[in-house]
Amino acid sequence: MPETKETNQTTRSWMDSVIRRDEVDRYLQNGKDFIDEDEISCHLNNSRNPEKQQIRQIIQKSLAVERLEPEEAAALLQVEDPELWEEMYAAAGEVKRRVYDNRIVTFAPLYCSNYCVNNCSYCGFRKDNKTEKRRRLNPEEVRKETEVLAGLGHKRLIVVYGEHPLSDVDYIEESIRAVYDVEVPTRRGTGSIRRVNVNAAPLSIDKLRRLHEVGIGTFQVFQETYHKPTYARVHPSGIKADYRWRLYALHRAMEAGVDDVGAGALFGLYDWKFEVMGLLYHAMDLERCFGGIGPHTISFPRLNPASGAELSQHVPYPVDDQTLKKIVTVLRLSVPYTGLILTAREPAKLRRELIPVGVTQTDASTRIGIGAYNGEGNQEIDRQQFLLGDTRSLSEVIREFADMGLITSFCTAGYRCGRTGEKIMNLLKTGREGKFCKLNAVLTFREWLDDFADEETRTAGERVIGKEILEIENDPHFHDGNLLPLFRDYYNRLASGERDLYV
Ligand code: SAM
Ligand code: SF4
Repeated sequence: MPETKETNQTTRSWMDSVIRRDEVDRYLQNGKDFIDEDEISCHLNNSRNPEKQQIRQIIQKSLAVERLEPEEAAALLQVEDPELWEEMYAAAGEVKRRVYDNRIVTFAPLYCSNYCVNNCSYCGFRKDNKTEKRRRLNPEEVRKETEVLAGLGHKRLIVVYGEHPLSDVDYIEESIRAVYDVEVPTRRGTGSIRRVNVNAAPLSIDKLRRLHEVGIGTFQVFQETYHKPTYARVHPSGIKADYRWRLYALHRAMEAGVDDVGAGALFGLYDWKFEVMGLLYHAMDLERCFGGIGPHTISFPRLNPASGAELSQHVPYPVDDQTLKKIVTVLRLSVPYTGLILTAREPAKLRRELIPVGVTQTDASTRIGIGAYNGEGNQEIDRQQFLLGDTRSLSEVIREFADMGLITSFCTAGYRCGRTGEKIMNLLKTGREGKFCKLNAVLTFREWLDDFADEETRTAGERVIGKEILEIENDPHFHDGNLLPLFRDYYNRLASGERDLYV
């Protein structure tokens, strides 16, 4: 879109219409939001050098799969003793197994538009980055990108947009419909995207209702930093400069009926311990407002270098690999029911190390240039938002997971069966959701192996599936009701070519 006096005027009046003050104020308590910097600092200061005994008690609470209170999370964050950290890594791994077993979910991001009115000092899409080539995929181009991804066997995408009148709700809706429209032939049947998650700017409730109606999965908005002075510094202009409009983006999504929301912080902007506390307070405030339901997922991206974004090349609070492991561990122990997403921003070796301490979802075969899957954009730094750490194919990543004893689940049954929000929390808490998930993981992995796997991945995958089926057959829980016969029937039908069967 060429910049003229007129388009600038249109963009400005659009920007003025985005924020609805009443859709922020309704969630405040006594005029205050849920981030009290003094309270967070106080918890962190009071927890310095915690006693071993105290930490072990907190670990026990996590192992009972209960959400931690801020003072407990603060104590975990302040542990200095390396041996105690080892105990925490082990406990986080155990919590993950108890809630999610050995499942991992994969997805791919689909960048649809990089037009943006904001000026986030860490992002290559920022408005003042004149070297960035701006592009918005039309529905046909979205379909082409999706065909590539569905052709690899992906079942979940996250669509990503800059904030701009060109990528307002009409466009978001249109592009999501284009994704859901795609069906590609596979070896034994057809492939399609069954869950579209969204990472977009904060929207108003009426716009979010429209996304709910289109059938989105998770609506993600990362707060970037919960520390208000830092937030103001790195978001100098545009709509994003409004901290509270963003802080309550997920509350509005829940109010609009989107049950699954994803929180996140961009690590490197401010002190990591503060940000973990911010994420916990965010989860708690969602629970307060929505009958005990917190975020479906939490993401913890680290700031990566992006061209035209000075701050990303001189990270103010660098987070090293060991610290990232601590972040995942404390999050896993603090919010046991929340999915944790690790992205291809991180290199393969580190992903191998972080997944066992609590990660539940990760992307694969990722490209973040606009039009990049179809070979149009490319992975050059000036065409993308930031640089990736892991560009391996989906098949390679799945093979590695299988070698680690993990089963890749392509299950999207949860939201299609209404197992979201409160319902899923109750199922998770009683351990029943895990049962559905285990069966669906096997069914969807069977489908993927038959339709998409190369020889090597197939061999590794068969080993995992064989072990899973044995566990299912030997687990007395599956012998109640008709779950086991249903599973066997679906498994056999999939083997003879039927598709998309789930319990
Ligand atoms: N424009 C929307 C927004 O800002 O929420 C959504 C898209 S934005 C591209 C998605 C996320 O990318 C941001 O929330 C931010 O956390 C992350 N991001 C931006 N620049 C980054 C960088 N240099 N390294 C890593 N992540 C980055
Ligand atoms: Fe725009 Fe989002 Fe990038 Fe900020 S992070 S410049 S809002 S695309």
